[in-house]
Amino acid sequence: MIELDGSEGEGGGQILRTGLALAMLAQRPLAIERIRAGRPKPGLMRQHLACVQAAAAVCGARVQGAELGAQALRFEPGPVRAGAYRFAIAGAGSCLLVLQTVLPALLLADGPSTLHLSGGTHNPWAPPFHFVERAFAPLVRRTGAGLELTLRRHGFHPAGGGEVLATVTPAAGTLQPFDLMARGELREAWADCLAPGLPRRIAARELAVFGEATRWAPEQLRHGDARQDEGPGNALMATLVHEHATEVFMALGEKSLPSEQVARRLLGEMRAFQARPAAAVGPHLADQLALLLALAVWRSGRPARFSCSQATPHLRTQCVVIPRVLPVTAAIDEAGAVPVVRLAPAG
Ligand code: AMP
Repeated sequence: MIELDGSEGEGGGQILRTGLALAMLAQRPLAIERIRAGRPKPGLMRQHLACVQAAAAVCGARVQGAELGAQALRFEPGPVRAGAYRFAIAGAGSCLLVLQTVLPALLLADGPSTLHLSGGTHNPWAPPFHFVERAFAPLVRRTGAGLELTLRRHGFHPAGGGEVLATVTPAAGTLQPFDLMARGELREAWADCLAPGLPRRIAARELAVFGEATRWAPEQLRHGDARQDEGPGNALMATLVHEHATEVFMALGEKSLPSEQVARRLLGEMRAFQARPAAAVGPHLADQLALLLALAVWRSGRPARFSCSQATPHLRTQCVVIPRVLPVTAAIDEAGAVPVVRLAPAG
């Protein structure tokens, strides 16, 4: 039995999703208590329930406590089944967090899977579609597995209605771990602004403020391709394509938040990463890469390491929880200019 205290470490939805993923991988039951206990609305919210239900569908799990607001959950996984799945997240819950939950298990399944996900594609506190497509999926492919994504429709809070197609192909042999210690040279950088259902001047203003601060050329400041009827919604993103890794940062617009503020938030995120040139990946990619590489280390018996701009509470929680279930060690070395995460087979 895997026993987790959901309020431990970062204490949000991530420990639940990681717990579900690990339970499916290790084929061990999971009991998690105090789910999101420290959050203003504790327990399972619609978004988290969608992740539990998706995980249960992928492995035919027996589940107790999968209810809105529940703070305790028991999840007994069955064998993981590759296949064609449709997961609809009521409201604008993030499609990409559902993908994050089931992807590890499907990467080790006995055949390819296709997922049709509907809900939010650009949500607060969740990986936006373009981050998963440009930053995370290429790292999945580096392990030898396949992850292809198509955005059929953008979905923003509160309307949702976004659609993502994902094709997951397990690695033919086993997942190969890799080292990612430097981002390498900057090859390309651009910003794109999605503002469907909003006056065009909003996107123009956000891009102009961002462009003034970065001194990026006009062709680096792009209006995204969301259709007018996919809104209202607003996301300003910056993509940095480096030789060894791509990063995507996002700031979301909100009602009564001035365009200047949206641009400044994005600048803050991007500059925090640029201020740590020795880091290969940024804060979000780091916690997501930790689980991906842990699988590859576990299956191959070989170590992996990566450098990151920041050791966030999310990353620290991953490094505590993963070794409790998989036979890997996960240490964060903070002696150098930037944190380095080292993953190795245990024992
Ligand atoms: P939690 O807050 O515990 O529900 O976990 C949120 C997850 O979404 C973590 O894996 C974060 O790294 C990820 N995440 C949050 N914001 C972003 C972002 N802007 N870009 C990429 N990933 C994100």
